[in-house]
Amino acid sequence: MKLSIANILLFHRVYPKRDPLWDPMDPKLFDKVLNYVSKKYTVLSLSEITAGSEIRSKKPIAAITFDDGYRDFIEYSLPILTKYKFPSSMYVVTNCIDENIPTWTYVVDHYFFHTRKLEIEDFPFEGLPEKYLITKWNSKIKRLDFGRSLKQFMKTISNDKRKLMLKHIIENFNDVNSPEGMMMNWNEIKNILSESVEVGSHTVNHPPLATLENENEIKSELYESGERIKLMTGKFPDVISYPVGSYDHRVMRIAKETGYRFGLAVNHKIYKPERDNLFEIPRLELYNEGFLKTKLRTTGFYSSVKNIFGR
Ligand SMILES: [Zn+2]
Repeated sequence: MKLSIANILLFHRVYPKRDPLWDPMDPKLFDKVLNYVSKKYTVLSLSEITAGSEIRSKKPIAAITFDDGYRDFIEYSLPILTKYKFPSSMYVVTNCIDENIPTWTYVVDHYFFHTRKLEIEDFPFEGLPEKYLITKWNSKIKRLDFGRSLKQFMKTISNDKRKLMLKHIIENFNDVNSPEGMMMNWNEIKNILSESVEVGSHTVNHPPLATLENENEIKSELYESGERIKLMTGKFPDVISYPVGSYDHRVMRIAKETGYRFGLAVNHKIYKPERDNLFEIPRLELYNEGFLKTKLRTTGFYSSVKNIFGR
């Protein structure tokens, strides 16, 4: 039988310590989810799912994917995946790997959270909405509010402008250590390739691709990251995973033009090859929540109910 549906699951970090900035999934929950998946589904690799060949399985099909390239994958996720003999895929942000620094959204949160300063000295960016002009706060809470709001705004600007802004934030909050050592290095990526893990691209800088007005920027995010992966692993990746699930028709076209064969969105739906374009394959994202809710997300039931009844 040809594949008719597949539940493609999306994870980020699996880690036992809580992180107030962005909570990773607890390894115990991860194990419980995979145990449930092992009973209910046949887990295939993404390349098996997208190959279009005959599938022999009485159970429905699932796949397991990870975004960003966090190092805790090796210590916490991989042993549990190996226990269930599950293949998986990891989509890496090549600049984050090269510089061993998390994605820019994490970095913004990190600096606003850990600094003790209550001011950013001159924030000289043209065209900044008025609410970002006052960069002096009377409490930590006000600073965190500002940081959260600024991060949303930074999702809407060009790569270059965002990099400048990020540099300015980092230089101003110089009482904070940079969040280094959280990402895998290229050697570690080569090692996981030999452990039933497929590796694909998640761009160079993790911008929300659909917000980039300049097509050349989209092109360089897709092409340069693919070339970097090719240089380091020997193969241009088949798959691009769009950061924060952001894509549009330009992104899909450019992904195809630059040599990818598949594009992964988020969209919280079950993948149906008959319905879904190969450059907008939906995934079901899982979080560190109660097991019941996670189970409902895994089956796709949670989001379908939410779609019917609204949020
Ligand atoms: Zn990401």
